[in-house]
Amino acid sequence: MRILVTNDDGINAPGLAVLESIAADIAGPGGEVWVVAPAFEQSGVGHAISFIHPTMITGFGPRRFAAEGSPADCVMAGIHDVVPGGPPDLVLSGVNRGNNAGENVAYSGTIGAAMEAALQGVNAIALSQFFGPENLATDDPFDAARAHGTDTVRRILDHADWGAAPYSLFYNVNFPPVPARDVRGTRVTRQGFRRLSRHRVEHTVSPAGRRFLWVHSGPQDEMTGEGTDVQACVEGYVSITPLTADLTCDHAVARLRAGFGDRS
Ligand code: MN
Repeated sequence: MRILVTNDDGINAPGLAVLESIAADIAGPGGEVWVVAPAFEQSGVGHAISFIHPTMITGFGPRRFAAEGSPADCVMAGIHDVVPGGPPDLVLSGVNRGNNAGENVAYSGTIGAAMEAALQGVNAIALSQFFGPENLATDDPFDAARAHGTDTVRRILDHADWGAAPYSLFYNVNFPPVPARDVRGTRVTRQGFRRLSRHRVEHTVSPAGRRFLWVHSGPQDEMTGEGTDVQACVEGYVSITPLTADLTCDHAVARLRAGFGDRS
């Protein structure tokens, strides 16, 4: 299997090394792992692409490239420029430093990369490590992802429905905020929503008197509804959520058509 690996924390991020190791397990001895990752951290850029300026790509050794662009740029670079012999069989994005569950999905560059792969017709899985008091201060905060990543990806590949074009499915995996030995299992979930973690801004004033705003969010461990990604992770389970880039709300379409007398 030929696998393209990317992330949004940048090419030197510790989670990328974790994912490269998972990808090597999945690809097997006859496979290939290609890395195209952002030169600098791109967390929070979502599915942005560099549409009005070019993206510089630099090689750092065999099958390893940094792009001065977004995670979605990296996926496009990998599929259309860097990886020879046609599109890769799989794109893996992560392992993100912090959870991409609940409303974080809407902002995540890790998710944006997987979404771009899905739009390009390539199977994709985003992986993120939820942090909390039980794992953040340990020697290896990525312990759960490191120990359970390969098996989780393999089980998705064994059982996944990738959906029909044009909007194929992709998968969002979050590893719970506990050491690997405390992981209780795996749950297939829906995207939750944490009201308290809604993003806000705080201002600071520079030494030169200019006003700057910092974005921050609230607590990440707020329990969300039954069967959701945040709840599964907070309870110690690996969460897997199927996603698509089609954001249409089907039940609202029917109601709005009725309201407009649209019988289509
Ligand atoms: Mn990130």
